[in-house]
Amino acid sequence: MQKQIEKIYSRPARPGMVGDGFRVFNYFPNAELTQKRVSPFLMMDFNAEYDFGPSDHIRGVDVHPHKGFETVTIAYKGSVAHHDSTGNSGVINPGDVQWMTAGGGILHKEYHEESFSKKGGPFEMVQLWVNLPAKDKLTAPKYQPITAAEMGKIMLPDNGGTVNIIAGDFNGNKGPATTFTAVNMFDIKLNKGGKMSANIPATHNSVLLVVEGKVVVNGQNLDEHDFVLFKNEGEEIAITADETSVVLLLSGEPINEPIAQYGPFVMNTHQELQVAFQEFQSGKFGVLD
Ligand code: MN
Repeated sequence: MQKQIEKIYSRPARPGMVGDGFRVFNYFPNAELTQKRVSPFLMMDFNAEYDFGPSDHIRGVDVHPHKGFETVTIAYKGSVAHHDSTGNSGVINPGDVQWMTAGGGILHKEYHEESFSKKGGPFEMVQLWVNLPAKDKLTAPKYQPITAAEMGKIMLPDNGGTVNIIAGDFNGNKGPATTFTAVNMFDIKLNKGGKMSANIPATHNSVLLVVEGKVVVNGQNLDEHDFVLFKNEGEEIAITADETSVVLLLSGEPINEPIAQYGPFVMNTHQELQVAFQEFQSGKFGVLD
């Protein structure tokens, strides 16, 4: 049975800046798309394609903390560099993903890669925040760089395109990312007329973003940058591309626990937030220049 579409959302009217390197449309959370409704996902920022132009300083967002969840950055255009207080660093290029587990606490900074920043050019990316269950919130920080070549890659029939499996299970094929709860994250590239069908458990919260192009999803026409929330019934998500398109499909088993958030800290209780803030203030998350 196909999943019914609960609602289609257009791109938010105005972007916001994160530092000076990320010009993002925030799709959730908001009053309607609450963190409970899209759990385990906490936040989605979409830097729709934007040309930043050449810069003589490196654009980005300087050192800041996170605790209690994971940040996942998907690069579609341009290159992003990351450094964190555990000593991990890396650069992701188009098609690559960086999956950072903040867990018990970390400092990091996120920048345009140096030569890309100097040269400028089209930049397109998504950042997701994925919650951790209470039992794993204090897990040791971890960094998973996942290159396009390392992803599960399914070629669709009739030259329809490719499904890159970042995490989870696409019709029996696994993605490389290690997750703490069941999460599916698929980067889907479709040629004009290309078709794909994914089976997603009915219990999962499921959403989809049209990153580029125009597609038909379970019979509904979608425009570029539309975002879909599916009902939690049925399993099939079927996509047909009206033109060359890129779609991000996300689903996950909801984490049914209280959420307490203060900025970059996401815990279960207010008291745990106070602890996180004290730890950050006292330098427990390490050092990063
Ligand atoms: Mn961050």
